[in-house]
Amino acid sequence: MVDDCLFCRIVAGEISAEVVHSSDRVVAFRDLAPQAPTHVLVVPREHHRDAASLAAADPATSAELVTAAAAIVAAEGHTDYRLVFNTGADAGQTVFHTHLHVLGGRSLTWPPG
Ligand code: 5GP
Ligand code: ZN
Repeated sequence: MVDDCLFCRIVAGEISAEVVHSSDRVVAFRDLAPQAPTHVLVVPREHHRDAASLAAADPATSAELVTAAAAIVAAEGHTDYRLVFNTGADAGQTVFHTHLHVLGGRSLTWPPG
């Protein structure tokens, strides 16, 4: 656990969030500022700064982010969805604890801008 990391603190239960899925390896909770009817963040319980760091260190957990996302969108009744890893500040990453954005429940345009 990294003390000044927002998502480590959510995983530890120190900061509240609406958790929609939890396992030994991952936790998923609703984004505070949702950009779609379903906007969930799936995070590893262990701290890694971005998606590639997690994939290199722990491929099984990296894969579970994606399978958990699919289960969440199915449970919310969607068939189509978008998965996003913002990586680095210029790409919009603001929290440096790996998180997979799961967006669904509306039509999504491409490219995202
Ligand atoms: P990033 O910009 O790093 O890709 O994504 C960070 C996400 O975390 C943003 O979509 C933002 O709305 C969300 N977020 C920031 N603070 C909190 C919080 O305290 N609780 C929850 N549930 N989401 C947060
Ligand atoms: Zn963290």
